[in-house]
Amino acid sequence: MPEGDTVWLAARRLREALAGRVLTRADLRVPSLATATLTGRRVDDVVPRGKHLMVRLEEGWTLHSHLRMDGAWRIYAPGQRWRGDPDHQIRAILGNADAIAVGYRLPVLELLRTAEEDTAVGHLGPDLLGPDWNAPEAVRRLLTAPDRPVGEALLDQRNLAGIGNVYKCELCFLRGVTPWTPVGECRDPARMVALAHKLLDANKARHDHITTGDPRRGRSHWVYGRAHQPCLRCGTAIRRAQQGDPGGERVTYWCPSCQRGPAPPPGG
Ligand SMILES: [Zn+2]
Repeated sequence: MPEGDTVWLAARRLREALAGRVLTRADLRVPSLATATLTGRRVDDVVPRGKHLMVRLEEGWTLHSHLRMDGAWRIYAPGQRWRGDPDHQIRAILGNADAIAVGYRLPVLELLRTAEEDTAVGHLGPDLLGPDWNAPEAVRRLLTAPDRPVGEALLDQRNLAGIGNVYKCELCFLRGVTPWTPVGECRDPARMVALAHKLLDANKARHDHITTGDPRRGRSHWVYGRAHQPCLRCGTAIRRAQQGDPGGERVTYWCPSCQRGPAPPPGG
């Protein structure tokens, strides 16, 4: 699942390519949109909402997409070869004379009335990178279920929108709690929320999710993706386990020395 900062950057690139321009090419390759005609319409804006992307068109239409696990929008110049992904994974093509945006593997792609965008994103908590970011409201929502493991609460986009698995693991490390710690037992959740905002904001204009301040390969994360390697702070071997309800488990990393709280038994 992409992190919110990845979606923010994708929205910025789409906005630079498409906003203020009339679509001279629009090809939506999902059955429900087979008859939709967007060619000739102007793109007014492209807006991220959590991990959702809203391409707003004139006359009050919004093309809503979500990247889920591995969707992507790529921008190409006319005549440039489309690299990296097979054509059969293309779900959308939006273009003008200077740029072509190609959406790959978009599990959600739908046309909405702009006035009704809330039907798609109204359930989201405060958006970490949104213009209306509201930290106290995010804290309030996190604490409405105080017994819930903090790792799961941070991923729940209804609490706050934008955190994916990388930031979940890193935030728990930075706050010294295991991801299985009940959110109500985390010391100073407001600081955790403030840190989440700081991390996403610091990374939003680049592709990496650097949480250590060190962009070097293998050193950009404290725990994420570092199973069995020494903790960058204390040298203890980083552990890895699944977290979440059956079917929705996410690989989770933590340092058993730096982070306090419940955790699965080793080898469990
Ligand atoms: Zn450690």
